[in-house]
This record gives sequence, C-alpha cells and structure tokens, in this order.
Amino acid sequence: MKKRVWIVLAAALLLGCGGNAMKIESRIPTEKIEGSSLYVRKVENLPEDFILGMDASSVIAEEQSGVKYYNFAGEEQDVFLTLAESGVTHIRVRVWNDPYDADGHGYGGGNNDVSKAVEIGKRATNVGMKLIVDFHYSDFWADPGKQMVPLAWKDMAIDQKTEATYAFTRDALNELKQAGVAVGMVQLGNETNGAMCGEKTWFNIQYLMQAGSKAVREVYPDALVAVHFANPEKADSYLSYASKLDYYGVDYDVFASSYYPFWHGTLENLASVLSAVADTYGKKVMVMETSYCYTGADTDFSGNTISDETANIVKDYPFSVQGQANAVRNVIDTIANGTHNGVGVVYWEGTWITVGTNSREENHEKWETFGSGWASSYGGSYDPNDAGRYYGGCAVDNQAMFDPEGKPLESLRVFNLVRYGNEVEPRTDALKDAMLTVDLKGTIELPETVDAILTSDERVPIPVEWDVTDADLQKMYEGGEKTYEITGTADGLPARCVVSMVKFNFLQNFGFEDGVLEPWQTEDRGGADQLYVEEKLTDSKNGAFHMHFWSEKNNTVDFSLFQEVRDLPAGTYRFTISIMGGDAGEQEVFCYALVDGEPAGRTPMEITSYGNWDTKTVEGITIGAGQTVTVGVSVKCSGEGNGAWGKIDDALLNSMD
Ligand code: CA
Repeated sequence: MKKRVWIVLAAALLLGCGGNAMKIESRIPTEKIEGSSLYVRKVENLPEDFILGMDASSVIAEEQSGVKYYNFAGEEQDVFLTLAESGVTHIRVRVWNDPYDADGHGYGGGNNDVSKAVEIGKRATNVGMKLIVDFHYSDFWADPGKQMVPLAWKDMAIDQKTEATYAFTRDALNELKQAGVAVGMVQLGNETNGAMCGEKTWFNIQYLMQAGSKAVREVYPDALVAVHFANPEKADSYLSYASKLDYYGVDYDVFASSYYPFWHGTLENLASVLSAVADTYGKKVMVMETSYCYTGADTDFSGNTISDETANIVKDYPFSVQGQANAVRNVIDTIANGTHNGVGVVYWEGTWITVGTNSREENHEKWETFGSGWASSYGGSYDPNDAGRYYGGCAVDNQAMFDPEGKPLESLRVFNLVRYGNEVEPRTDALKDAMLTVDLKGTIELPETVDAILTSDERVPIPVEWDVTDADLQKMYEGGEKTYEITGTADGLPARCVVSMVKFNFLQNFGFEDGVLEPWQTEDRGGADQLYVEEKLTDSKNGAFHMHFWSEKNNTVDFSLFQEVRDLPAGTYRFTISIMGGDAGEQEVFCYALVDGEPAGRTPMEITSYGNWDTKTVEGITIGAGQTVTVGVSVKCSGEGNGAWGKIDDALLNSMD
C-alpha cells in the first residue's frame, strides 16, 4: 500500500509545483448543446451553481482493463472531458482505506483507494470539474447492508478509531490538495443508515463523523461537508438521523440521499423528507446517487441488479436511452424545484461499462487483475459472505451512460439540456404491455389500442394490430387457466398483450386495487395500531395495493378480514388468499369460509418473513340457492421484535364445477 502512495506523491512532485501550476480551464459548456435528438423538458429556476455530478469511481480500473471511451463525434477522448462537455460539473469518487489483500490483490469495485481518488481528481480538475470525495471508512463497499471496519482498525477502541479517522481523512485530503485537486465536497461515510466503520450506535458514529469533519475543515475549508443516507421511503428515518446529528452537534453542510427509483419511493416523498430536514435543521440537501436503465439487457456476462425480468420494482420509465434521461431530468427537477435547499444531483457510475464483449472468461480475467468488476475473488478475504460468494463483473452496466463500446449515449447530454430544454417533436419511445384477464366462460376482446410512452414521457393510446388467429383464440378458451402472450405492432414497434385466462372471481376488489377496503370488512378484536389498505408496489403480491397490518404491543394483532357474497349460483366453490409478514411470534392464522354464518371450511396459514407469501385455499365450499357465503382470513399474533406486521393480497372465489 505504502509503495503505491509514494509513487503518486513522487509523480506529483516531479510535475513541479504539482497541480498548483496546472492550467485549469473550465470545459463545462455555458451554452446549449444544439442538434440533440433527446427530448428534455427544461428544469426551471436551475441555479447556475447547481451540482450535476457523475460518480466515475471505476474509470481507472476500466481503462486498465482495456476500455476505451469516445466522444459524441466517435473519436477516442478522455472520458472526463466528454463528461464535462456534456454538462457534468462534479465527479464523485469512493475511497476505501485499503482494498487490497496481504498479497496486493485488489478486492475489485475499481480498487478505489486514495491514490485512485488522486488520479481521478486530477483528471476531473484538469477539465474544470470539482471532486466529491466519498469516504466509506471501510476497506470495501459500505451501504445499509454492511459497514465493515477497515482491517487495520479492527481492534481499535472508539477513541483510537476516532483519531485514526481524523488522520486518515486529513492525510487523504492533503494528498489530493498537493496534487492540485479541486475538491468541492467531502462525504463522511457512505449510506450510513445507523452504522459506520463497524460502529452501530450514534454515540460512537458521531465521534467518527466529527473527526472526519474536522479534517475537511482544516484541509479544504471551502469544501462542503456531507452526510449520506439511503432509503428515503422509510417513514421518519431521515428526520431521526438528522436529529441525532443535531443532538451530537456534528458539523456538516449537506444532508444527502441515495434515490434509486426502483425501490426508494416516489419523488414527492423524496422531496418531502429532504425538505423536512432542510426546514428543521437548516441544511442543504441533495441526491448523492441515482441511476436508471437504458436497456434491460446485460452486456458483460455478469448479471445486473435490475433487468427486464426483475420482479417487484417500480418502473416508471421504459428501459431506454430516453427513459433514462427522463428519469434523471425528473430527479433534477424535484431537487431544484420541489425540495427546499436542494443543491444537486449525482448520477451513480455512468461510466462503468463492460470490459469486453467476447466472453465471460476473458472478462473474468480482467475483473480479477484490475478490479473492474464489482468484486474480485480476493474480496472474499475481507468480505466472505458477499464478495466471497458472489464476486463477478458489473451489475449496473445497463445503467451506464456509455454503450458497451464506450460511445456516449445521448442521455448523457441531459446534464446540459436540463438548463435550456430541448423540446423536440415527441415520438413513440416504447409501448406499455396491455394486460387482460378473461373469464374462461367469457369472450377474449383484445384491446384496440395500447399506451405509447412518448419521448416527452407522456402516455397516449395508439392503434395496435394483434398477430392472432381465431384458431389461437379457440385454443385459449379450451386451454384452462393459463397465461398467454400475444404479440402485435403499434407505430412500428412490437406490442404485447398478456392474457390471463381465469375462472370467474366472485369477489370484488379482490386485490384491493380499488384503493379502498369496501366491500371487504374487518373485525379488529385486538385494536391494531395499523390496519388499512396500503399502496406500495414492492409489498403487493399483484398490482400496487394490499391490506396492511402492524401493531407494536404484544397480542394486539387479532383481526379478521372478510367479504360477504350473495346471490351466487348454487354449486361448489373454492376460496384462495395470500399472506406474508414478520415478527409474528406465536400465531394462529387461517383462511376460512362460512355459509349463512356456519363454518364451511378453514385452512391454516403461516407468516414467516418478508416476501415469502403463503397462499392457501379452502376447497369444497358448497353453497345452495339463496345462501350467503363469507370468505376471509383470521390473523392472531402475539408479536415480537417491533411488533407483528404483514400484508394480505389476491383473494379468489372460484367455482369448482
Ligand atoms: Ca452486468
């Protein structure tokens, strides 16, 4: 480690006066880029000094792996210049204390130590951009899932670790300063949701943050000091972090959030939770990480976090270059106009592309040698449970802003065009799938239109032609309960209709998609803290709504959820429903049916853990003419942890005849 650091220092000295003598010329365009086909609605009131950043931490490892980057004219060009020319004002870089094993093998993820930050910082400064330094205070990835202490600090007591944090931050920043790097902001930890550097109490975390902050103020007094958290969708968590920081008097300027639209709630919620921090504590706020897919495909033979197949994510925009640009534009607009004291938005790893297009074997060799994958096998020595098991390539290459050959995507220009707007004639960018549920005894009536998603992000219905014959439809009628995919064409693009052939469901509002409880009813025997229909895509089995329950006190989750159905044709029926949840403790959960108030069947169910839906059926419910059937689920939990909670969704009452 030491050896590498000294080489960089020597190089800086050899350059004579180091970076101080470097001619710094701003390449950030002050005028609109003309001629772009990208649709960009202008972000009004965007301050001139608004931060439009790009995390480019993996660039050096990428280049060492043979990746070449090009400009919009197709010529090979320094990627930092291309970023600056596209309107990026700041480069963010993660810093790990020592991401190398005892034999000098890098853990991967760019092998980003201080020397990498110096190299990246110099190149960013050279083209007029500022650096955002992201100290993880770990030897490898730190996020809400893990905040591992650097190996060298493993046995330190908190006072020693505080001193080490101060010294490490000070020395790292001094190296950057000696190299002439323009540092605009420094982060005290990465996504530190209640943990940092192996510490799990705010009492200890605040010592480390104070130490880091002190070092920043000494070395780069003009730089902003930032703290950074994730999961803005978790109610009240941001105000609670900010109140801890305030209580301990941590000296910082910017309260920053990650915002990945797939998981992190709505933009309105993001604006609301950041504004609350801005208003209550007088802090600047920003989005420190965001990104979106320009394709659902993987390009480096190592699976991606998000693909076309990923279930239970919010997909507000198509996975297209224009969809990516619209996603970014709307985050910028939200921070600039919807949020109090919003100062910027940083895109995460837009330069992290595949290191080769030939084979996994070839790429694997490069990931291992240069650390250009998210983790090398060597990372397992430090992080056996994650890196050690799942090491591989890039999991976000489909969210980059360069294609697999290193050519910039048009979406990169969004950083310039948001300032001016580029409202070119909207055209169809993608089509929304049509969804159709058909009773087996009913008629398949395919929709005459599908929703086109325009480049302007508007949705309009357009005519569609389906590729289907009468013989195909006949097979669907005869095929029983199955799902079919019918293809077609609209505005020259391939369209898709997913047809589910189902037995008629005699329940209304069976998936709570009406957004209200009715005609369901509840009998709340325990007085639960929360018992209502909730809109949350990621927690629903199907659609966006489900029934939610939670109660903190023991034995207060005790309720039934049921629906009465009258005037059914006489016959035999079955009732199906799904439940998931956690912290249930001792439980008695079952689905049931009553006919004219008399028990007609019950089936036990089980609450286990988040995302594990238990689907159970009551079979053979015999109903005579004029009788009323009541179907429902009964939930009784003693509770543990923070109290029993759960979700109920997707009820079916079908004829068995
Ligand atoms: Ca990949």
